[in-house]
This record gives sequence, C-alpha cells and structure tokens, in this order.
Amino acid sequence: IVRVSNVTKNFHMGKMEVQVLKGINLDITAGRYISIMGPSGSGKSTLFNMIGGLDKPTSGQVFIDEVDIAQLDAYELAWLRCRKIGYIFQTFNLIPLMTALENVTLPMTFAGVNSDDANDRGMTLLKMVGLESRYNHKPSELSGGQQQRVAAARALANDPGIILADEPTGNLDLRTGEEIISLLQQLSQEKNITIISATHDFKMLNVSDQVVWIRDGQVDKIENRDELSISLGEISIGNRH
Ligand code: ATP
Ligand code: MG
Repeated sequence: IVRVSNVTKNFHMGKMEVQVLKGINLDITAGRYISIMGPSGSGKSTLFNMIGGLDKPTSGQVFIDEVDIAQLDAYELAWLRCRKIGYIFQTFNLIPLMTALENVTLPMTFAGVNSDDANDRGMTLLKMVGLESRYNHKPSELSGGQQQRVAAARALANDPGIILADEPTGNLDLRTGEEIISLLQQLSQEKNITIISATHDFKMLNVSDQVVWIRDGQVDKIENRDELSISLGEISIGNRH
C-alpha cells in the first residue's frame, strides 16, 4: 500500500547542503502496524513527511497504492491527504477555537460531506475513542490524552486506509500513551488500517508487526515482531503488576 523507493532528502542550511535521508527503501503492505524507530535527528519525521505527501523528496519516489505521489496535481494531492491518509502528530494539532466534534468533522466538511452526516459520524468516532460526552469541549478543556484521542478520531474522519502518526505518545504520560497505542493497534487489527508510526516509545514494539530502524538517514534494519533483537520481555518489565 506504501512503497518508498530510493528516497533522499537534502536540506540547505546556509551554504551547506545536508543529506538527511540517504536512499530509503520500504515496502509496506496493507493493514500492518509499522513502527519507525531511531535516534533523534535520524530522519524519522522527514521520512514521515515524504510518505504523507507533506514534503517532496530530493530524489526517489513514494508510491501510495502504486501511484507515484509526485505525479499528482495539487487537487489530487489534497484529495490523498484528506481521504486516504489520516495524520496524528505529537502536538495533537487540534484547532483551539473549535470543539472536539468540530475538529473531527472538519476533514469531512473538506471532503464535501453534508453537516448532518458529518456530525453523526463525528459522534460515532468520538464514541469509539470514549469521548462522546466531551463533544462540546474545546481542546484547552481536555487533557493531553483526550486531545490525542480527538486527533485520532479526526484522523479517522474520512475512513483512510493509512494512518501516519509522528510520535503520537510523545507528549503523553505512560498510561495515556498506552491508551493511544492500544487504540492504534485496534485500528490496524479490526479495521485493517495501515499504521505507520515514528516513535521513541519502546512500548510501540509490543504492538508493531514490523519495526524499521533508521540510523543517520538510512534504514539500519527491518525486523518483524518475532525476530526483534530487543527483548520485549525487558521492555514490558515496567508494566507488570
Ligand atoms: P526526533 O526523534 O528528534 O523527532 P527525527 O528522527 O524525527 O528526530 P528529523 O526531524 O527527521 O529527525 O530531522 C533529521 C535531520 O534533518 C535533523 O538533523 C534536522 O536538523 C534536519 N532537518 C529537519 N527538517 C529540516 C528543515 N526543514 N531544514 C533543515 N534541516 C532540517
Ligand atoms: Mg521527529
């Protein structure tokens, strides 16, 4: 469903040109939960932006459903970003002046859904993330974990096949982070949504089908869950009751 082919990305910093991605290749099949892990500055968010069509590679291609997204015109790219991909960010990125429900229905309004249908679906999604009673609250009236759940509901608004999550638990405490992780896991298992998550959170390893380790702008290794070189037992120790 997502294929990254020889993607490089250079950034200009003053007179210097720095290569942040050095030829990334990935092939991600539908319905899988992929974690992209690696040290700070290794290029995870940059790669994330390329996959999500938020920024363009210097060279190489990103294919979504076998379509090279660089070939899309502005309208098609907007459609892709609105309908096919849901985004979740570390800082939630909710619109402060809008209520939870309005935040969730916004992408549906963009997609041309009428407001009654959008509100119905918005409430269904808020219910799914356990926040139907908070539909009328503004982000500032919600906890961090609740805001991230609203962001997850918003990401689901137009029934995307792919959810891209950049450090979705980065600003959350351990417990609310776990809630978000299990919500994402549920989405991949029950709705067959492909989850691609850039993360520092080792708890993500417990639910990932595959882990892509990025180091210095390159894929260091790709491991399936059953072949992880890090022992999951060690990671979950802090978790035991
Ligand atoms: P973290 O785990 O801290 O989020 P990351 O793996 O997501 O790190 P990136 O944000 O992708 O790392 O950044 C990789 C490198 O690219 C960093 O050295 C950063 O300074 C550089 N970089 C990222 N965006 C830009 C930009 N717009 N202009 C210049 N340099 C950038
Ligand atoms: Mg990052």
